Amino acid sequence: MSVGRGIGSEDDLELVQELADAIGAPLAASRPVTDQGWLPKTRQVGKSGLKVSPRVYLAFGISGAPEHLEGMRDAELIIACNTDENAPIFDVAHYGTTEDLFDLVPALSDKLG
Ligand SMILES: Cc1cc2nc3c(=O)[nH]c(=O)nc-3n(C[C@H](O)[C@H](O)[C@H](O)COP(=O)(O)OP(=O)(O)OC[C@H]3O[C@@H](n4cnc5c(N)ncnc54)[C@H](O)[C@@H]3O)c2cc1C
Repeated sequence: MSVGRGIGSEDDLELVQELADAIGAPLAASRPVTDQGWLPKTRQVGKSGLKVSPRVYLAFGISGAPEHLEGMRDAELIIACNTDENAPIFDVAHYGTTEDLFDLVPALSDKLG
């Protein structure tokens, strides 16, 4: 499961960490999140980070820049949450929603908790 700049602040990372814990997934990120030091560089997915190919890749607030896609496009199932319906992440996602992550993430955590 990965989070991008759409999370907005370090404090709100807790929200996505809670969901990652609920589903037993490691939390990774796009470069802006690791550049800001909100997560370590070892958690960055993409051209200058990790290449991952999990069975399921959940992307919250990630636009889908080519440098990010390079690290995760081989995932078996890609599910994206981005409020911008034109975000390029939807070109590679198998399922997607334009729901606001601040609504969706806590709702999923509640369901799974
Ligand atoms: C040489 C080079 C190497 C790079 N290597 C990497 C790399 O390894 N990994 C990497 O990730 N990037 C890398 N980049 C950077 C890459 O080009 C992008 O800038 C970066 O991936 C963008 O990250 P992002 O999608 O999190 O941010 P943004 O592009 O800013 O996207 C944030 C997204 O969040 C959405 N959003 C905002 N608010 C919400 C909300 N409330 N709910 C849901 N969605 C919301 C917005 O619609 C937007 O699409 C590299 C760039 C270069 C030049």
